[in-house]
Amino acid sequence: MVNLFRRSDPADVVIVGSGAGGGMAAYALTRAGLNVTLLEAGGPWDNTTDSAMLTWPYESPRRGKSTPERPFGEFDACIGGWDIAGEPYTRAPGTEFSWWRARMVGGRTNHWGRISLRFGPYDFRRKSLDGLGDDWPITYADVAPYYDKIDRLIGIFGSNENLPNEPNGVFLPPPKPRCYELLVKDAADRLHVTCIPSRLSILTRPLNGRAACHYCGQCNRGCKVNANFTATNVLLAPARATGKLTLLTNAMAREVTVDRAGRATGVAYVDKTTGTDQHVRARVVVLAASALETSRLLLNSKSTLFPNGLANASGTVGKYITDTTGTDVAGFIPKMMDHVPHNHDGVGGMHLYMPWWVDNNTLDFPRGYHIEVWGGAGMPGYGFIGGIQRYPSGGGYGKDLKNDYRRYYGATIGFSGRGEMIPNDDTYCEIDPRTVDRWGIPVLRFHWKWADHEYKQVKHMQETFRALIAQLGGEVFSPMPTAEQGYGIAAGGTIIHELGGTRMGDDPKTSVLDRWSRAHDCKNLFVTDGGPFVSQADKNPTWTILALSLRTSEYIADQAKQGGL
Ligand SMILES: Cc1cc2nc3c(=O)[nH]c(=O)nc-3n(C[C@H](O)[C@H](O)[C@H](O)COP(=O)(O)OP(=O)(O)OC[C@H]3O[C@@H](n4cnc5c(N)ncnc54)[C@H](O)[C@@H]3O)c2cc1C
Ligand code: SF4
Repeated sequence: MVNLFRRSDPADVVIVGSGAGGGMAAYALTRAGLNVTLLEAGGPWDNTTDSAMLTWPYESPRRGKSTPERPFGEFDACIGGWDIAGEPYTRAPGTEFSWWRARMVGGRTNHWGRISLRFGPYDFRRKSLDGLGDDWPITYADVAPYYDKIDRLIGIFGSNENLPNEPNGVFLPPPKPRCYELLVKDAADRLHVTCIPSRLSILTRPLNGRAACHYCGQCNRGCKVNANFTATNVLLAPARATGKLTLLTNAMAREVTVDRAGRATGVAYVDKTTGTDQHVRARVVVLAASALETSRLLLNSKSTLFPNGLANASGTVGKYITDTTGTDVAGFIPKMMDHVPHNHDGVGGMHLYMPWWVDNNTLDFPRGYHIEVWGGAGMPGYGFIGGIQRYPSGGGYGKDLKNDYRRYYGATIGFSGRGEMIPNDDTYCEIDPRTVDRWGIPVLRFHWKWADHEYKQVKHMQETFRALIAQLGGEVFSPMPTAEQGYGIAAGGTIIHELGGTRMGDDPKTSVLDRWSRAHDCKNLFVTDGGPFVSQADKNPTWTILALSLRTSEYIADQAKQGGL
C-alpha cells in the first residue's frame, strides 16, 4: 500500500473508491475543508505521465492488442476487466451477466466514452408517467443546479436544443461533424430521427487551467493534456492540492465497521501489498466503490445490530439493479469507398448522436433509447477491418487483399442503441455463500432477467439501424437477429452502466438511502456511486453520478458544519 498524500486520524470522512463518484466526493469535501481519507483498491495513475496517447501501434510488438489487465487494448488507460485474478463473482444458473471492474486511481473514468448526458425531467418520475418501476424521491429541479456546476467545473461540449427530456446545459461549442457523420445526419433527417451534436466531457476551449482538445482521437488511452475528463486528473489532483486528502492505493475495503449505537466508525480494508488487515477510522463513511461493489460491501458488513448487512433493514440492498440495454448494427457504405483522402480527426468519440425521438403511444414498449454513431477512418491498429471477407469481393491473399484494405478503409458506419431497462424482481445480486476472493471476502452472485419491454425495445433498435444503413445506400453485415436470439440484446452488465442496489427513496421499508443518499439505518453513512439510482433512463449514467455525488457531498459538508453528523 502506498500512502500518496497526507493522513489524519480519525479522518473526517473516509471514501471507498476513487472513480466518478468517489473522485467528486473527494474534490467537494476537501475543498469544503474536511480531512478525507480515500481508499482505492487499485494502483496509482497520472494521465500526464502514464498515458499512451501518442504511441503508434508499430511501437509495440502487440500493435496494441489487448492484455489480461487491459481487455480493451494494450494502450487503453484502464486497468481492470471482466475477470480479475483472485476476484471472482458468480452467476445463478441461467444468468448471463458480466461485470467490468476497474482497479486503479480514477476507476473507469480513465477510459470511459465521455458521453455526458443529463437525465431529463421525465426520467425522475417514470412511474407517474407509465406506471412501471418507481419515481425518484427527487426531481430534475433538485439535480439541475449540480449538473450546471459540473458542466462549468469539468467542461462539456454540446448544443442547447430545447428538447423536452434532453435538458440544455452549460455547453462549450461542439466540434463539427466529420464527413461520414454528415451522411448519417442526412439519412437520419430523411427518416425523421432527431440527430444533434453529441454531448461529451471533452474541452473544445481551454477551461480552468486545462488545455483544449487537439483532436488526436485517443481519449480511451487517457489524455496527456487533460482535455478530457478523468476523476484522476480533474478531481483528485485539485483535491490533493488542498492538503486535506490522504489517498491510500492498493487498499481493498472489506467492510464498514459500526459501534454499539449503530453508527459507522470507519472501514476495514486489506493492504494488498502486504496482505494485512487494516482499519481507517472516520466520522463519516462514503461508499463509491461502483454500484454493485457498494452492495457487496454493505451485505458483507454484518454485525449483531445489522445481521443482514449494514443499511439493509429493508432487505433491498442488491435489489433493483439495472444495466443499459444495447445492441449494435454496422454496415458497409459503398459511397465512402475509394474516397479522396480527407480529414477524419476529432475527439475520441462521436460528434453527433440521436436522443430518443419516438412517442411511446405509437409503440408496443415503454421507455426508449439513444443512438451512438461510429465509423470512418480511425487510426488503424490490431484487428483493423476485421472480417474483410464480409465486404463485396473482400478477402483473399497478397496484393489484392492489401488493396481491398485500402479501398474499404473508412467505409463502415455503425450504430449502437443504448436504452432503458426497468428494474425487475428477478434481477439482483446477493452474497454467494460458498465463494470468497483471494482475501477471503465473500463475493457477489448475480441473477439477471430481461423483460419483454427490453426485448421489444432492442428489436426496434435493430430495425431502426437497418433502416438508417439502407438510407445510406449501405449493406448490413449481419442478418436481423431472431426473437430466439433476443433480437441481439447484449448480455446484462456488458454495456457497463450498472446502477442501483442501494436505491434512494422516502420510505425506509422499500429503499436503502434517503433523498440525500444517506442510509436510512445509519446516519453517518452515504453512497455516491451509481447505487442510489432509482431508474436507469435512456442516458449514460456518469454525468448524473457526478451531479448526485456533488449534491450529497455539499450536504455532508453542510451537516458537518451544523454538527448534524
Ligand atoms: C469502456 C467504458 C465506456 C464507458 N462510457 C461511458 C460513457 O460514455 N458515458 C457514461 O456516462 N458512462 C460510461 N461508462 C460508465 C462509467 O465509466 C461509469 O458509470 C462510472 O465510471 C462509474 O463511476 P463509479 O465511481 O461508480 O465507479 P468506478 O469509476 O468504477 O470507480 C470505482 C472505484 O472503486 C474502486 N473499488 C472497487 N471496490 C473497492 C473496494 N472494495 N475497496 C476499495 N476500492 C474499491 C475501484 O478500483 C474503482 O477505482 C463507461 C464505462 C466503460 C468501462
Ligand atoms: S482527442 Fe482530445 S481529449 Fe481525447 S486524448 Fe486527444 S487531445 Fe485529449
